[in-house]
Amino acid sequence: MTTAFLSHSDCLSHHNPEGHPESVARLEAIQQRMSAPEFDGLMRIEAPLCSDEDILLAHPAAHLSAMKAASPESGFQFIDGDTSLSPGSLQAACRAVGANVKAVDMVLSGQVQNAFCATRPPGHHAEQLQAMGFCFFGNVVIGAKHALERHGLSRVAVVDFDVHHGNGTQDLVWDDPRTLFASTHQMPLYPGTGSASETGASGNVVNVPLVPYADGSDLRAAFEQEILPALHQHKPEMVFISAGFDAHARDPLANLHFTEEDFAWATRVLCDFAKDTCQGRVVSTLEGGYDLQALAASVAAHVGVLMEQT
Ligand SMILES: [Zn+2]
Repeated sequence: MTTAFLSHSDCLSHHNPEGHPESVARLEAIQQRMSAPEFDGLMRIEAPLCSDEDILLAHPAAHLSAMKAASPESGFQFIDGDTSLSPGSLQAACRAVGANVKAVDMVLSGQVQNAFCATRPPGHHAEQLQAMGFCFFGNVVIGAKHALERHGLSRVAVVDFDVHHGNGTQDLVWDDPRTLFASTHQMPLYPGTGSASETGASGNVVNVPLVPYADGSDLRAAFEQEILPALHQHKPEMVFISAGFDAHARDPLANLHFTEEDFAWATRVLCDFAKDTCQGRVVSTLEGGYDLQALAASVAAHVGVLMEQT
């Protein structure tokens, strides 16, 4: 079995205003890096468009209607100071959701061992009724709900090592004891949530905030002392990764000092856990990462480890 790499050219049609860090160039840098011969073994899949019903697995209908109504014919429609839709944004967002749904189908059918969704816009800041932080829909949570509701899994886990707290993911799974959400993130930092005291309705949320300038040794401690024990207790049947790479030392939006080797370590630990407990089923999805060189190198390290598992 191999690793699926899901993406789509529509994800290059979501534009942010000039100078915005969440740019088309991010995905272009990843795609260029992934064209190297070492990645020839990937099964490259065109991400399908999701259905409305997929989005409704995680969001109320009012949110979907609001996003459709906000989709502009030209220019930008601002949701907040950081988050806006261009004419291609809704289509790109539906590819990002569709990639997750398809990735779950491929992994659960045994077609591939694991999958990486190289899509944008990202998703982990999108709350039930609120697009924010460059995100419109909870891509990863929709994949997780798809696995639970339609494939009949009983328990899943979402691990998020993006430098920002995944407030949206937390909001979407807060009341769902089937889903463990575990996150490392810098604090204080946008969006301001993610303290260790936020534990979900049934203890299903594990937040491990890290102080500014924390490095790979702090990441290892967070995983070994808190995240892995929580995973072992939850016994998920599939592991989702919200793979943001903005905790890299070079990233301009935050102050953590991870390296691509640290991301590879975290990926390996999660894959080892998945191998021991859930047949190695892992679906990973791009979230943040805003230094193009660090992003491309980190995705290469992350996907390289996913490919080692097959
Ligand atoms: Zn981020």
